Amino acid sequence: MKITKENKAWLANFKLNHPLVIAGPCSAETEEQVLAIAHQLKNSDVSIFRAGIWKPRTRPGGFEGVGEIGLKWLQKAKAETGLLMATEVANAAHVKLAIEHDIDVLWIGARTTVNPFAVQEIADALQNTDKIVLVKNPVNPDLSLWIGGVERLYQAGIKKLGVIHRGFSTYEKTKYRNNPEWQIAIDLQNKFPDLALICDPSHITGKRSMIQEVSQQALDLNYDGLIIETHIDPDNAWSDAAQQVTPDALKQLFVDLKMRKETD
Ligand code: PEP
Ligand code: MN
Repeated sequence: MKITKENKAWLANFKLNHPLVIAGPCSAETEEQVLAIAHQLKNSDVSIFRAGIWKPRTRPGGFEGVGEIGLKWLQKAKAETGLLMATEVANAAHVKLAIEHDIDVLWIGARTTVNPFAVQEIADALQNTDKIVLVKNPVNPDLSLWIGGVERLYQAGIKKLGVIHRGFSTYEKTKYRNNPEWQIAIDLQNKFPDLALICDPSHITGKRSMIQEVSQQALDLNYDGLIIETHIDPDNAWSDAAQQVTPDALKQLFVDLKMRKETD
């Protein structure tokens, strides 16, 4: 399957001399939290606001997301700030609700990309959509599953496609929460050079002190964008507290990062 340049054309609608920046909390928690973060991120490098509404937890007992009500908060955040809105979808019902609430960008999470039935169900529900759809790598280091996810969406006529590299689970403890295994993402990019490649340093590192280092590595490798979890009160976030940064820290990050030179 050959993914063509038109699959990347949507990127050109965003700031060209910058990576595409997606930021916002791991999870939407309350209306106030969503609106406060979105307002702090408007008029910055951020083009797309992210917030999880349905949270796939590896084990039961954690915060599983606020559900449908959160989509209303995202709609309000979009109306008030002009930011595009992104959320995770894991089945056809999520897709339907997200479309009904004018969510602009849908991403498939790492625990969903591993499941071809779920990815196909999502692809079918999205048939020929104009939405931007981003496929996270599967939790395990399996390039074929990642490629398969992209192919299922492409075959469903989705034209605005991209992938998110969020690292891979390992049984051995490493300094990363999810080992980046950069070569897997590079292999995917070599196979699909015209697919937008976005790095998720938050889920790769699991800790805010390492976000800058991994973001810089991604920019040096010419990634097209970054998705960074951002929260007004990271330490008290309802999920992924250790890896979220404040909006001010995010702004400082983009002052400190050395941007790639635009050569094309
Ligand atoms: C997330 O983006 O908050 C998330 C659950 O990520 P992943 O699917 O990469 O674990
Ligand atoms: Mn998260």
